[in-house]
Amino acid sequence: MAPAASPASQEPMRCTACASGVLARQEVRSAFWQGDRLVVVEGIPALVCQSCGEQFYEDETAMKLDLMRGGSCATARAARTLTVPVFDFDAAKKETSEGSDGSQS
Ligand SMILES: [Zn+2]
Repeated sequence: MAPAASPASQEPMRCTACASGVLARQEVRSAFWQGDRLVVVEGIPALVCQSCGEQFYEDETAMKLDLMRGGSCATARAARTLTVPVFDFDAAKKETSEGSDGSQS
């Protein structure tokens, strides 16, 4: 069990993913699907590697996220609503294969 808040850490925590980056406390954003609904959670306290960007959650945070994922995300309680563009994988592929006709005469 970790203490709720450690005001000052004398030794910087190291990233276990790249083994060289230093972890910094940061608020991050995460998203998960509930059925066909995408739920975005922001303001999640995490430790973020300043080198590779890997994010680490503390046990308590991961547990809370799991609970939210489990179904306590009532739309009525959402802080705000985002509109996100949705792309079709096939359509994107076609666009790429068409290439650029950049004709400018
Ligand atoms: Zn790292």
